[in-house]
Amino acid sequence: MANTKHIIIVGAGPGGLCAGMLLSQRGFKVSIFDKNNEVGGRNRAIRMDGFTFDTGPTFLLMKGVLDEMFELCGKRSEDYMDFVPLKPMYQLVYNDQKLDVYSQPDKMRAELDRVFTEGSATYDRFISNERTRFNHLYPCITRDYSSLSSFLSLDLIKAIPWLAFPKSVFANLGQYFKEEKMRLAFSFQSKYLGMSPWECPALFTMLPYLEHDYGIYHVTGGLNRIATSMAEVMKEFGGKIHTNAPVQSLIIENKVVKGVRLENGEQVFGDEVIVNADFGHAMSHLVEPGVLQKYDSEQLKKRDFSCSTFMLYLGLDKVYDLPHHTIVFAKDYRTNVRNIFNNKTLTDDFSFYVHNASVTDKTLAPQGKSALYVLVPMPNNDSGLDWQFHCQQVREQTLDTLGARLGLADIREHIECEKIITPQTWETEENVYKGATFSLSHKFSQMLYWRPHNRFEELDNCYLVGGGTHPGSGLPTIYESARISSNLICKKHQVTFKEIKQSAWLKEG
Ligand SMILES: Cc1cc2nc3c(=O)[nH]c(=O)nc-3n(C[C@H](O)[C@H](O)[C@H](O)COP(=O)(O)OP(=O)(O)OC[C@H]3O[C@@H](n4cnc5c(N)ncnc54)[C@H](O)[C@@H]3O)c2cc1C
Repeated sequence: MANTKHIIIVGAGPGGLCAGMLLSQRGFKVSIFDKNNEVGGRNRAIRMDGFTFDTGPTFLLMKGVLDEMFELCGKRSEDYMDFVPLKPMYQLVYNDQKLDVYSQPDKMRAELDRVFTEGSATYDRFISNERTRFNHLYPCITRDYSSLSSFLSLDLIKAIPWLAFPKSVFANLGQYFKEEKMRLAFSFQSKYLGMSPWECPALFTMLPYLEHDYGIYHVTGGLNRIATSMAEVMKEFGGKIHTNAPVQSLIIENKVVKGVRLENGEQVFGDEVIVNADFGHAMSHLVEPGVLQKYDSEQLKKRDFSCSTFMLYLGLDKVYDLPHHTIVFAKDYRTNVRNIFNNKTLTDDFSFYVHNASVTDKTLAPQGKSALYVLVPMPNNDSGLDWQFHCQQVREQTLDTLGARLGLADIREHIECEKIITPQTWETEENVYKGATFSLSHKFSQMLYWRPHNRFEELDNCYLVGGGTHPGSGLPTIYESARISSNLICKKHQVTFKEIKQSAWLKEG
């Protein structure tokens, strides 16, 4: 029997597009509505005067997960995109040293021996132990936790000793590495979740582990190509994407979601509604007050959210000798972290990340020029900072710091065009609740069963995908959220679908 069910998706971010592609392939009629004029959300391209920047994601980790999403649609990701493995993956800059980070064990060991007193003696143990941890945790990440019975699974019981609860990533690394700077090299990745390494749960040691054991990738044209490729696949299966179509609210009757009301007044009805818009934003703006309990505006405010970021995208008429990815640690890293997460204040001495992808990918800038993306972690908008006031001051500080820490002293003379995103603009223009760019914090009490469920617990016919639901923020986990929600919808409507029981990309151990 033909599948006539209509699925509406609010948002064409990575989560919405991945769900859109999977469900279109499975025969559903799928309509995505996005407020922007192009797809991708925080994963879309910014184009200015011949320069191309990724808005947000620049590290593609766990490429195997992305490949599987295409495979589930009967496609090959390689037919849509050109993937470039990065060797070295990135450079870390301390106040007195630099470390090139490789996913080739021999090269990594040599670098650790060169830079740190304790050298690489425990590196292999880190890889093998963390591989076992990851292999125990991965089945838990890919499960649905929409009910208590699905939560209390054998997979989770087997994984409990590997959660290392209540340790932090930084504490967990103590079993391998003693020098603080060495531990930072394997724990700064907590910032990918917008968290402090001293607070981020130990299970997220999987992030540095995955980088080292599986490597990271660039996509020619930028990681935004993943979003446009997913949109392409979705359209090949008949899915419809409506851009410039902001959703004003969900149409809800007796806690059952019936469709969406667009800002232009149009109402669109469907059998299921998937929310990909930022979770906090959606709950506080798309649902009328009084409908929700657990996640109503007052309750939401009390939850923990990630940090934010100050973004500077610079089109330069010069090519600097900088690696593809550079992470610069504040001279006093702990104080910087405390100022972002605890004190919620600005600091002079800050950590930052520079993406200089045009060094690898000539499509991103005109010849002899470069597209530089600078990310400075910042407190989220709970800080109360007035970014109209602080924006220029932080821009100047960032440019000064690029000069002082990376030798780009003449950068101001070479700026052809630029764009800034502040924590405030993340909130007001990108619809990111509190400007918390990595969504709800990934502390233990907001993970797994305790994160907003993929089959949303407060409303019927409503599913969540994206960084704010299980398994969490980051492209691979967001694709997993799309797979989980899509599978739940298929099961509900008795639509058969292909499953991958054993991931071919997973290493044994
Ligand atoms: C600066 C930054 C760097 C990052 N770096 C990485 C990285 O290197 N690697 C990685 O794996 N992850 C990274 N991430 C995290 C994460 O992968 C991205 O944020 C990702 O884009 C989140 O995807 P999403 O599907 O949750 O939502 P989003 O990308 O936010 O998409 C949500 C969509 O909903 C739309 N929307 C919102 N409100 C409405 C409305 N009312 N009506 C219609 N549409 C609406 C938005 O326009 C948007 O298109 C980064 C994030 C940021 C911000």
